[in-house]
Amino acid sequence: MEDHLSHFVPRVCEMGYAWQDDIDGTPVLAARQHIFEARYRSYDPAKETALWREFAVIKPTREGFARFAGKWGHLVGRTFNFAGDLITGDSLETWTDAHKVIAHLFRLLSAIRSRDGLRRFLKPGKGGQYQYSFGRSGTWITAASDVEAGWRALQWTLNSHLQDAVVKRLLWDAELQRLSLHDVPRHLWGHMLYQFARAVDGEKQYRQCAECSRWFEVGAPGASRRDRIYCSGACRARVFRRNKEA
Ligand SMILES: [Zn+2]
Repeated sequence: MEDHLSHFVPRVCEMGYAWQDDIDGTPVLAARQHIFEARYRSYDPAKETALWREFAVIKPTREGFARFAGKWGHLVGRTFNFAGDLITGDSLETWTDAHKVIAHLFRLLSAIRSRDGLRRFLKPGKGGQYQYSFGRSGTWITAASDVEAGWRALQWTLNSHLQDAVVKRLLWDAELQRLSLHDVPRHLWGHMLYQFARAVDGEKQYRQCAECSRWFEVGAPGASRRDRIYCSGACRARVFRRNKEA
């Protein structure tokens, strides 16, 4: 899977997001402008390859979610009614559930890779069967080892969320003058799940930039530039300049 297969246009409300209760009393992290007035900025999602990794480790509080939305946009973007004004946002439940999924998948992936703590996720039964449960769902998994059971558990949970979050679309390619088939995340949440799936597929590792603290992707094991400690040439140059001045 390559980046150009995924077409997702993120939208961040220029005025930011704030918590408020909608007409039914549901707490919603809502854009600060109603839908007919809202202005959005965007960013290149292909350059922000570690959003799921950042999301996995934020504090799952109203403040934590608001900070994340201010940087990267709303998660799913439903329309809520605030005393007659229609506003784009996500309920606290949506944010909390999404965070539980990503945090769980991240912990599971770490346990698989380190081959440590897998029994916290999987209860072995008879005949190579494992009991796997997460939230309100669970299943029996047949596998030859704890590690295989871990991968199958991760696959089961990730696929169940991916199926509503990423769709197949034919899109017009103006350069080639033809239609081509793409995976299209339906929203930021879908984009993060897709990134997570790509990270598993490509054995990506993540690191936090030593200069600006941004999360970024480093290559698969054995690939070059695994020793990168800065997210970009700009950050590396800034440190280099500072060291020269000092
Ligand atoms: Zn940086």
